[in-house]
Amino acid sequence: VAVTGPAPVPDRVREFLSRDHGHYIDGHWQRSSDAAMLESLNPATGRHLASIARGTVADVDDAVRAARRALTLPAWRELTPLARGELLHRLAELVDQYADELALIESLDNGKPMSVARAVDVGTTSKLFRYFAGWPSKFEGSTIPLSPRNNLEILNYTVHEPVGVVGAIVPWNFPVSMATWKLAPALAMGNTVVLKPAEDTSLSTLRLAELIGEAGFPPGVVNVVTGTGSVVGAAIAEHPDVDKVAFTGSTEVGRMITRAALGNMKRVSLELGGKSPHIALPDADPVEVAAAAAEGIFFNQGQTCTAGSRLYVHNDIYDDVMNALIDRARNIRVGPGTDPQTQMGPLVSSRQLATVSSYIDSGVEDGAVVVAGGGRPVDLPAGNVDGYFLEPTVLVETTHRMRVVREEIFGPVLVAMRWNDLDELVEMANDSPYGLAAGIWTGDLRAAHRIAGAIQAGTVWINCYNLTDPASPFGGFKQSGWGREMGRAVLEQYTETKSVWVNIT
Ligand code: NAD
Repeated sequence: VAVTGPAPVPDRVREFLSRDHGHYIDGHWQRSSDAAMLESLNPATGRHLASIARGTVADVDDAVRAARRALTLPAWRELTPLARGELLHRLAELVDQYADELALIESLDNGKPMSVARAVDVGTTSKLFRYFAGWPSKFEGSTIPLSPRNNLEILNYTVHEPVGVVGAIVPWNFPVSMATWKLAPALAMGNTVVLKPAEDTSLSTLRLAELIGEAGFPPGVVNVVTGTGSVVGAAIAEHPDVDKVAFTGSTEVGRMITRAALGNMKRVSLELGGKSPHIALPDADPVEVAAAAAEGIFFNQGQTCTAGSRLYVHNDIYDDVMNALIDRARNIRVGPGTDPQTQMGPLVSSRQLATVSSYIDSGVEDGAVVVAGGGRPVDLPAGNVDGYFLEPTVLVETTHRMRVVREEIFGPVLVAMRWNDLDELVEMANDSPYGLAAGIWTGDLRAAHRIAGAIQAGTVWINCYNLTDPASPFGGFKQSGWGREMGRAVLEQYTETKSVWVNIT
């Protein structure tokens, strides 16, 4: 593992980081009701990066009140759909204008390489706002043919109305883009939002809140409350005046949120964990498979819900794939995200590093063999020795009885297995409580489509991996979630459908 060094931070970003960040409520910045703060650490150094407000139940109450009031503001409620789209377009332009700054903040706060933050996190964010800017004027209701003479007796039509106040709770792996996955459709459909970013990575969302104000969204339409999941997240999930909760995070917390939401029967949408199978057929090119498998698991330090974390390679090409994969894993450049040479940054927190390391230990205890990585990189630059770095890791001799195969590790750890029989392969691929994604590598498209049809997953990639687009629906089967995000499909999750009957006889 080659190790790289850090790069300087421009004054503008330094100034942003040095502020004591409050909550963004009703268009203003405010401290927590008890003035408490949380420290955000730089995962590449383990040292202080910024201070953010540690929210309270009273802060969530304030934000929900502001969001409720904003639903009735003429400046929001009486906007034409086209004008609402216009606001989203303006926001997309501002995100593009400040893209480098947002990407640097994301990289410093989360650890990911700048190139990924710029192209994927921030790039996706402006694309999402732009895509959803087109929908307000196009998400039409319908007229239902009911009466014998072309609706001359009864006219029945449907309209889509906003759900109301949306509580959005998001994770730390793609901070600003995960927030936007919720914000963009919620705003496009005329809702108002109380958003809670993850406590480890709130900074890019706070910068986005500034841009939301600058774009001209009326006060209270978007509110951001920072703090812990057990206080701020739980208060949003329980709040009797929140109409819908949209959550991305772990399946365990998703269950807690669903229970809390039952109180007032909130609408609930969930994007949860995964343990996605990445499959190579015997005709696939071993070098191409190795490259795809490495990218599928090591992208974003393995902290990707769709990570191709279970590799199934046909026996005929297993040895060739594994040799190429081990070589790749060992040559990935690990370092601070702000170094342009870095291909893999640190994990997001010391807690995440401990969790992922303990999974590697459990695999070894269960009989798995580490063939690449497994520990902390040596020779880190002096300023980074306390960062949360882990080597890209590959485990072999793994079986479906092991925790490393059954559970989501959410780190740069791949488990590899052989297969011979297609039916057995599909059985193994589906032998998981999760069903988020799958990848298949082959020139045999008949076999690829057969497998795609048989696999229980919300997304199947054939001869590609990790492609997403705002226009394409995304979500999970089984315990990977409820509902779909992006595309037309998500609009249903942010609207109520009203059926209107008119007697016109
Ligand atoms: P997490 O579930 O621990 O936290 C997610 C968010 O929930 C955070 O903002 C956290 O503060 C909040 N939270 C924690 N406890 C809460 C509670 N009791 N009530 C309300 N909110 C609470 O997840 P994480 O560690 O931040 O993220 C990793 C997980 O997210 C992984 O399982 C990953 O697969 C999943 N994820 C899924 C997708 C997807 O689209 N399916 C995308 C990204 C991440």
